[in-house]
This record gives sequence, C-alpha cells and structure tokens, in this order.
Amino acid sequence: MTSSSSAHLPADNKVVIFVKRPGENNPPTVDCFDVIPIDSPTEKDITAEQCIVRTLFLSVDPAQRCRMNPSTGVDYLGPYEIGEPVDGMEGVGVVERAGSGSHLHVGDLVTGCIRLWTWTKYFVCDSSDLVKVNLPPSFSPSVILSCAGISGITALLGIRKKALIDRSRPQTIVVSGAAGSCGSLAGQIARIEGCSKVIGICGSDDKCKVLKEEFGFDNAINYKTEKVSDRLSELAPEGVDIYWDNVGGTISDNVIQSMNTGGRIVLCGQIAVYNTDLPYPPPLPDQTVQILKERNIERERYLVLTYKNEMDEAIAQLSEWLQQDKIKVKETIYDDLSSAPSAFVDMMTGKNIGKMLIRP
Ligand code: NDP
Repeated sequence: MTSSSSAHLPADNKVVIFVKRPGENNPPTVDCFDVIPIDSPTEKDITAEQCIVRTLFLSVDPAQRCRMNPSTGVDYLGPYEIGEPVDGMEGVGVVERAGSGSHLHVGDLVTGCIRLWTWTKYFVCDSSDLVKVNLPPSFSPSVILSCAGISGITALLGIRKKALIDRSRPQTIVVSGAAGSCGSLAGQIARIEGCSKVIGICGSDDKCKVLKEEFGFDNAINYKTEKVSDRLSELAPEGVDIYWDNVGGTISDNVIQSMNTGGRIVLCGQIAVYNTDLPYPPPLPDQTVQILKERNIERERYLVLTYKNEMDEAIAQLSEWLQQDKIKVKETIYDDLSSAPSAFVDMMTGKNIGKMLIRP
C-alpha cells in the first residue's frame, strides 16, 4: 500500500553520468559529464519504508571537483566512478509517492543533510535518509540549499568556532571568494557577530557591487583587476584581524601579509588549487609560513562536518535571520538537468553570484 496521487509520474526522467576524469591538473569540462534519459520509478519500485522523490533543486559544490580525481584525498568523500551517476552534496525535493511504513507523506518537502543526492529528477529513496522541512511561507525551497544548508552552516559555524570575534574591540575581517555561497554568508554573519569592518575579495566588478550594495560589505576588491595587497593597505590600514579563506594561492598570501598579530584564519577552502594535484591544504610559501609564526596567527583546518551535532541549531539560527531579513541570499539557477555540466563548470570559473543551483 502506498500513499499517492492517482496520476503516473512523467516518464521523462534524466540522470547525470560521470564519463571522463579531467586529469588532476586540468579544469573540469562539460564533456566530463553526460545527461541521459532514464525511466521514472513507479510505485512498484518502492518498499513500505521507501518513497519516490522529485528533485526541486540540486546544490553545485566545489567539493565535487576532488571527486572527479581517481582519489579524492579526503576520507569523507569517495571519487566518482566512470559510467556511474553523479551525486551532489545536497538537494531538496518533494515526496511524490510514500510507502505505507514511511514517516513521510505525499507533498512533504524533504532534504537530506549529509546525504549525497543523485543528480536526477525522480528517484527512489529510503525515507529514513530524508528530513522533512517546514518552510516559512513565501520562501522558495531553494533557500534550504542557499542558506539553511551546508553553505550557511559552514559560514555560521566557521565564524563561531574559528573566527572567535572579539566584540569588545573593532575587528576587521577579509573574506575571499566573497560573492559565492559560503563567502557571502560568512561576511554577513561576521558583521552580525561583531566585526566592525567587512571586506570582500571576488572576481568581477559586478560581484563587488553586489557585495557592497546587497550584502552590506564595507568594501570589495576585484582580484582580477586590482592588486590585493595595495587595496588592503588602503582599505584596512589598521590591519586584518580575521581572514575567511575560501581560495588559497596568491590571494591568500597577500591577505596574510596584511594580518595583525594574534589574527585568525578560517581555513574554509582553497579553490584556487583544486585543479592541481597539490595535497589539501596545499603547502604555503616560506614567507607566508614565517608571517604566521612571527605574528602568532592561527590557521587550523576547518571542516563543517566535524560539527554534525550542532547543525540543527545552526539551521534554526540561519532560518531566523533569514526571516528577520538580517541575512540576504542570492542564487544563480540553471534550469533543466541538461544544464548540470555547465552549472558545475561555470561555478568553478566564477559565473555564479551566491549559491549555484540546478532546477531539474
Ligand atoms: P562558491 O559559491 O564560492 O563558488 C566558487 C567561487 O570560487 C566562484 O564563484 C569563484 O568566484 C571562486 N573561484 C574559482 N576559482 C578561483 C580562483 N582560482 N581564485 C579565486 N577564486 C576562485 O562556492 P562555495 O561557497 O560552495 O564554496 C566556497 C569555498 O568553501 C570552497 O573552497 C569550498 O571548497 C569551501 N567549502 C568548505 C567547507 C568546509 O567544511 N570547510 C564546506 C563547504 C564549502 P570569483 O568570481 O570570485 O573568482
């Protein structure tokens, strides 16, 4: 027995397949993926404890890049296998059919925090792997990925656990990858949590404008057209107390030169070296290592998955801020599953503002 609506699910299902490794030292290309038609599941395909889910939005994440190599270099994510479906870090969907023993019902909005989500439109899933979401009225289900999901949790817990903002004195934070999903939220949350100056680094003038006019950053630097070290001397002559590092490479070396004694780096990601075979985190130039030592700057690896027990509380906080309009979220949405390969390649080259999503 299943709970269901009477109509059949549309037959036009698709899945994204991983077909080619780009090579560890090359950028990913769209032909690393194929998008093929498959049958939609039917009620006969599910057990009492399962359900059929229709994907509404898929999250596109830099962490997928390491999965394109034969070995990911991390223990919490396995590599993609050639010919196998691609799964992503997160998705949000709606229950279309539910088995009689499922705690979920048709029409429930569901996500799967910490559950990989196959890049397909209709799929069968164990109900126990899904979490029902109650969305406040007037919010798009996409905010579950662009705010109250891994990006937002990463931003909030990174600020609280690693940035250790001292509210008793003025604090300047610099965020790299600032116009992306984690970066835009990290800058806004740093402000809420007490930073007096928030400076973002990103890859276009349009992004700089969004940082200042929509996300409330005090200033922004376009690393493609401006010299980061010169601009930081102008914008933060008092020195940088906290650096939220999403990118690594020379941008980070430049920011670290501007940091104050006792500063802290939130080592969130190093996307500038993801298309290389360097280990994670990559080795730093001697001069940067020297600065970290001399100025007693903390730079510990940060992984949001370390804080699984604190994620529910973080989601509640993010949802509250979102409803109070204390944080703003932007999304770049690519429609149709056939655009999934471009969405991933374009996110890696900076075509997104805010969270990159696919609406299958
Ligand atoms: P974003 O939304 O920030 O998208 C990636 C952005 O990276 C692009 O938009 C691009 O913006 C920028 N970028 C790409 N290549 C370079 C480069 N060579 N140099 C500088 N910037 C570059 O992605 P996320 O918010 O999802 O992820 C941001 C970072 O956070 C990543 O490093 C990711 O791995 C990390 N992360 C870490 C987690 C953790 O637990 N530690 C959890 C989740 C994410 P631009 O136009 O500015 O170049």
